[in-house]
Amino acid sequence: MSAAARTRPLAVLLTIGDELLLGDRVDTNGPWLGRLLTDAGFEVVERWSVGDSVPAIRGALARMEALAPGGVLVATGGLGPTDDDCTRQGVAAHLGIPLEEDPRLLQALEARSRARGSGELSRLNRRLALVPKGAEQLTNPVGSAPGLLFHPSEGSGTLMAFLPGVPREMRAMAETALLPGLRRAFAHRLHPPFERIILTAGQPESLLAELLEPALPPSLGVRIQYRPSLAGVELRFSAEGEGGEARMDEALERLEPLLAPWRYGWGGETPEGATVLALRRAGLTLALAESCTGGLLASRLTAAPGCSKVFQGGVVAYDNSLKEALLGVTPELLEEHGAVSGPVAMAMAEGVRIRLGADLGLSITGVAGPGGGSAHRPVGTVWFGFSGFLLGENRRATIEAEPMFFPGDRDEIRTRAVHYALRRVRERTRG
Ligand code: ATP
Ligand code: MG
Repeated sequence: MSAAARTRPLAVLLTIGDELLLGDRVDTNGPWLGRLLTDAGFEVVERWSVGDSVPAIRGALARMEALAPGGVLVATGGLGPTDDDCTRQGVAAHLGIPLEEDPRLLQALEARSRARGSGELSRLNRRLALVPKGAEQLTNPVGSAPGLLFHPSEGSGTLMAFLPGVPREMRAMAETALLPGLRRAFAHRLHPPFERIILTAGQPESLLAELLEPALPPSLGVRIQYRPSLAGVELRFSAEGEGGEARMDEALERLEPLLAPWRYGWGGETPEGATVLALRRAGLTLALAESCTGGLLASRLTAAPGCSKVFQGGVVAYDNSLKEALLGVTPELLEEHGAVSGPVAMAMAEGVRIRLGADLGLSITGVAGPGGGSAHRPVGTVWFGFSGFLLGENRRATIEAEPMFFPGDRDEIRTRAVHYALRRVRERTRG
């Protein structure tokens, strides 16, 4: 990391709520704030969760403050009026200041209650006007509980912000009230990173790393993060500090020839979107014959906008009788080779291409498990058939089949098969 990067102000995140610890709710506030603060130019260093308890909140604040000296602590949750919401009390205990009723806030809450036709403010809702003495309030654009902001008394102290737990309220307040406040407080110390996301498929992360790392001079200060999934490996390139953009451009230029065979898109794109785009560029239409994926590939493809230009449709031919009736696979072929085989995959691809009138037919037939495997054809064996006019050598007509073996359970095998098919269609239609 470059020297400039180390001067970014530190940020820590605390999400408060019993439900987060019990596993009843997944914490979405923390990750969302992590992205927001990183983009704003902070270095997010830790993220914790605690339950709705005054001692727990107090203890967490004390320990977390020390993790971000001169930076910011952002917490969410527990600002509501009910007995289980005790963040206010926790903060007051931590800072050693009393809770006081704020007359102006009380008035605003009463006005809001009347405006909404709820009449007088209820006893519980009156609690919302209790704020730790000296707190700055953050306006809640979509709810009633305001957020709280505490500026540090000295430079090495930590600025602390408390936002509501309801994700919609938290986001609105973070964007409209917290962020402007942080920009004012940290001004020129903020350094948003330059980042580029590149989507790759067909190469595991370890091999990608062995390929890319030696070609990336450390002096450029560009970091690569590898994020593998069943769709492939997403690469996040980031450069921090002075001249980050130029260093990033240079790094990507150097890596271009190494990345080109595996890259299929940029951040924000999807595997199916890239496949639809590849077909559109090649001017080819596609028809599918799916067995073990049961229409998953068709569903995935039709999720991509613009799919109608290139996707004719698909046949889910699960039972052998339908492979015969709908795709014209002969009983002899099925008898001789079995449904999960190269010859049957080819016959399915050819059958669907001709019957649905597409340029390219693709078939998937495999053993997704957990049963149905054999020594000869273990669970995870999947055959892909391709038929039609493919680009490449002279745009010739071909019928081919490829066997693959995918690890994992039924779900994983089917998903891997879908991604493999999407990738192969991209590769086979590349000009
Ligand atoms: P309220 O006034 O609604 O009580 P609050 O600030 O007290 O607001 P909480 O009581 O902590 O917020 O949570 C309100 C709702 O928001 C709950 O349904 C909770 O599960 C959800 N929620 C709270 N924190 C998170 C989080 N970190 N991620 C996702 N959802 C959350
Ligand atoms: Mg609550």
